[in-house]
Amino acid sequence: MEKRVDKLIENLEERVKFFSQLGVDFIESSSARVEPSVPSLEEQVRSCQKCPLAKGRKNAVPGEGNIHTELMFVGEAPGRDENIQGRPFVGRAGQLLTKIITAMGYKREEVYITNIVKCRPPENRTPHADEIEQCRGYLLDQIKMIQPRVIVTLGRVAVDFFIRSREGMTALRGNFHEYEGIQVMPTFHPAYLIRNESNKIFKKMVWEDMKKVMAFLGKK
Ligand code: SF4
Repeated sequence: MEKRVDKLIENLEERVKFFSQLGVDFIESSSARVEPSVPSLEEQVRSCQKCPLAKGRKNAVPGEGNIHTELMFVGEAPGRDENIQGRPFVGRAGQLLTKIITAMGYKREEVYITNIVKCRPPENRTPHADEIEQCRGYLLDQIKMIQPRVIVTLGRVAVDFFIRSREGMTALRGNFHEYEGIQVMPTFHPAYLIRNESNKIFKKMVWEDMKKVMAFLGKK
């Protein structure tokens, strides 16, 4: 009997080792399923070497906020300040995003904020298609874990991740699009608003988009 138990334990250890070598951090059984946790996903992102952006980063930026939220914001990539601090949207554009979130009636920590790619591209260039491809699994896992009702995409790169369309941002923004049962609202990136600060029309458009999100979520 003792020998059988020893053998079972040995087999189990082998299986766990095998799964962990594959990078699997959950095991499904008929009675319980433990989902990949946010901390384990964050750890994976912080040590990820899957694409060339790993070389130039100081810190990877997995994302932050409430994982039980109904509202997610997805930008393009970390910038200079985010790379230094390892947190999303903490520079000037981030401060503007925080103001928008507050105006919508949420605290920043009540929503979840992340980016399409989790490491800063050199000189803030647009992430390449292969970098987005390598990184996409992390965002998909975050969406799976959070299951938001609405995703607000900030800028062109973010909207392209969810919606296949040749339409320009101006045509896409302001309308909900569906992605896997989740409502996606494309709007301009806060950095774009800062670059066009003299043109108040863009700020007004973003606020109109956010009002639609608030109405959908029954916020006001
Ligand atoms: S951008 Fe994404 S895929 Fe590339 S190294 Fe960073 S976390 Fe990994």
